Formats: sequence, C-alpha cells, structure tokens
Amino acid sequence: MTGTLEHCNIVFDSLENGALVVDEECTVWSWNKWLEINTGIASEAIIGSNLKEFYPELDYKGFQRKIRTTLRLTTPTFYDASLSNRFITIPRNKVTTSLLTNMQLQVTISPYIPSLKRVMISIHDISDLHELKMTLQHRMAEIANLNSVLKQDKQIIDTNLMIVKTDCGCLVTDVTKAFSCFFGFEKEELTGNSLSNLFVANKHEAEFLQMKEVLNKKERWSGEMEVLKKNGENVWMDAVISPHLDEKNEVISYTAIYHDITDKKRIELLSITDPLTKLYNRQKFNEVCEQMLMRQHWTQESTFGLLIADVDHFKNVNDTYGHQVGDTVLIAMADTLTDAIRTSDILARWGGEEFVILLPDVDMEKATLVADKYRQAIEQLNIPEVGSITASFGVTVFSKGDTQETMMHRADVGLYRAKKNGRNRVEFN
Ligand code: GH3
Ligand code: MG
Ligand code: MG
Repeated sequence: MTGTLEHCNIVFDSLENGALVVDEECTVWSWNKWLEINTGIASEAIIGSNLKEFYPELDYKGFQRKIRTTLRLTTPTFYDASLSNRFITIPRNKVTTSLLTNMQLQVTISPYIPSLKRVMISIHDISDLHELKMTLQHRMAEIANLNSVLKQDKQIIDTNLMIVKTDCGCLVTDVTKAFSCFFGFEKEELTGNSLSNLFVANKHEAEFLQMKEVLNKKERWSGEMEVLKKNGENVWMDAVISPHLDEKNEVISYTAIYHDITDKKRIELLSITDPLTKLYNRQKFNEVCEQMLMRQHWTQESTFGLLIADVDHFKNVNDTYGHQVGDTVLIAMADTLTDAIRTSDILARWGGEEFVILLPDVDMEKATLVADKYRQAIEQLNIPEVGSITASFGVTVFSKGDTQETMMHRADVGLYRAKKNGRNRVEFN
C-alpha cells in the first residue's frame, strides 16, 4: 500500500498542474511539486495540516459539501473556482501586464481513497485562457461601439450629404436620402436609371462632354453643373465624381457627391447682370475685356473689336413718353441686340442708353460690317407707343499696346463722329 502511495506521489510530482489529496475534513494528505513551486509551501509543512490553516479564504463549508458529493457519487466533480467563489489563492509568477495577479483556477475533485474519505484535487491554471477571453470580450465591445458609431455616421451622411453611386455604365445603384429628397424623387425611381436621363444636360452639352472625357480617362472630375429637379426647377450643383477601379484598373463603379450651390450661383449672376435689361453689366464686361486683352497679348493670332452703341435722341423719348417707356425702349434694344449678335460676341449695358459689344475674331472691315448689321436690326425695331428708334455706333479693333481704356476711347471718338455726321450710322476709328 505504501509502495502504491509512493508511486502515486511520483506521478503527482511529475504533473504540470496542481494535485493534492485531502479528506472530508480538509486535512492535506498529499501536495505535489507544482503546488510547492507555485504556492511556496513545502509538502512537509502542509501535509497533516488542515488546508484552512494555510488558506483562510477557503469556503470551507462549500468545499466540504463538494467533497461529500464527490464521494457519494463516486465520480469527479467540477469545483467552481471563479473569482467570486475562489478556492485557494495562488499568485501568478509570470511577469504580466494583466490585472490578473492571482491564478484563475479550474478545479476538479475526484474520488481518491473512498474508504478513507479522501479525494484528489487537480488544479489547472487557466489564467491565459481567461485573459484571452477578457481581451476578446474587450475587442467585441470595441467593435460593437465602432459599429454603432459607423451606423450613426452613415445616418448623418444619408440625411445630409447628396451622394449617388452608379455602376460602370452610370446606372444608379444607390442614392442617399438627402439626394432623393432634394431632387424630389423616390429612391426606387432613381435606382437602375441613368442620371443623364434625369439631369437634362442640353444647355451645358460642352461641360458634360468634358466631364465624360475626364471620366473616360478614369480620372476624378469636379465642376459645376446646372441640372433639373423632378418638378422642373433649375438648380446648380457642385459635383465631384470619382471612379472606383478594380485590380485590373477597370472602372467598376462611380461615386458622385453633390453640393447645392444654387444660391451662390444666383448671387454670382446678380453681381454680373444689369437689372433692367438682364444683359451683362459693366463689371462683367470689364472682366471679359481684360481676359480678351490678355489672350490677345499671348496668342496674337487674330484680333478682336469693340463697339459702343448709343440710342439717338433718347432724351426725347423720355421727355415725350416718360421714363418708364424709356425703360421699355432700353429693354427692346437689349433684346434686339441679343438676337442679332454672333454667339461669340459679348454684349453688355455700359450704362444709361449705351451698350458695348466685344467682337472676337474681327478685323476693321468685319467689325464695321457686323456693327452695321446690328444698327440695321435696331432701325427695323417697332416699339409700341414710340415706333422706331435708331442708334449710333463707334467701332474699333485691337492694335498693339492697347488697353481697355484706349480701345474705349477710340470707339467713343468713333461714336462722337457718328453723332456728328447725322446719327444712325457706324464710324470706325
Ligand atoms: P444723343 O443722340 O446725342 O445720344 O442724344 P441723347 O438724348 O440720347 O443723349 P443724352 O446722353 O443727352 O441722353 C441720355 C438720356 O438717357 C438721359 C437720361 O435721362 C437717360 N437715361 C439714362 N439711363 C436711363 C434709364 O435707365 N432709363 C431711362 N428711361 N432713361 C435713362
Ligand atoms: Mg449717351
Ligand atoms: Mg444717346
């Protein structure tokens, strides 16, 4: 019997976990090497003593109950040694950053010598597992938190940003609520449709072609576009369209982000528009004239002309019919010139009853010819109440070293001469 016990002790000592034998009263009968190492208590010191003397924290009553159950059932039972109901405290000898300074134990009680009411208790250190579990729980909580932040962000984006996703063929795959609401569509009306069908582009064909060209090069396009809402209202959008490429560098989809700039555009338009005639005002004219002079300076390919038109005896119109009728004459004159000019010409109201026109790609002859065409158009005008009116024209073309001032001055001298020579005529200067 002693031989068997010695043999058992050798086996116990070779175990890489704790093993001890206790009886029903918790008197220790065996204490293996692992326990000696990890608790610092020598087997000689503890064998024959009660476990409770060394471990006052032991739930003595509960532990005894467990031992009795094990002996009665003659089958190993698990002893819950979680922190809230711990067995004995064994410090961790590992250098660890964890908060776990004591081992997390898994304890099993097995019948050992039932006749002597002794049980064998095996103790496994499951601290690493426990730590992993805690880390995992921590990460899961972080992920859950991130998910809820993402969900919130998505909602903020959905309700505030106008975003459209399309496939490579520009058919809508997804739109944000902000986009569909702004344009007055249901989401379902948009998905599967082509955006160009919704955004009537005929007014800005050149810009749309330029956009397509950039996107065809698989590059990002940004710019402003005038588009239509479902109710037909015109709006201006600032847009950024980005292609998404796969690993073969093929476009798989596009994302377009829009920003409503209608108000900004309206203000911009107001700042360059003459309120009475709706033509460009003097400020815009100066801007374009400056650009043309710069271009002329760099390219010197062809020259451009400038003309001033002034209504003849306009004071009489005002004096005879009143200022309001005078205004309608100015509007009629603006409309007539708008219809008569070439698409490349820039027409503006200089002030009072004076209009100015920039004429790209003209020489002296062409400028005079064009100006006379415009003069005839005004002459043929029939204005209710007033009847016909005439205007005199002063014309000039760019010559080296010119500024806007020198060109305006020459055209003005031409105009003065036209007035002096009988009005309703064009004078080149
Ligand atoms: P001329 O053939 O020499 O150009 O004679 P004119 O009467 O047209 O020339 P003048 O410069 O003396 O008169 C211009 C008039 O235009 C004077 C001014 O009261 C009027 N005028 C200026 N701005 C406006 C406007 O916005 N509306 C109206 N109705 N009249 C204006
Ligand atoms: Mg005048
Ligand atoms: Mg006048």
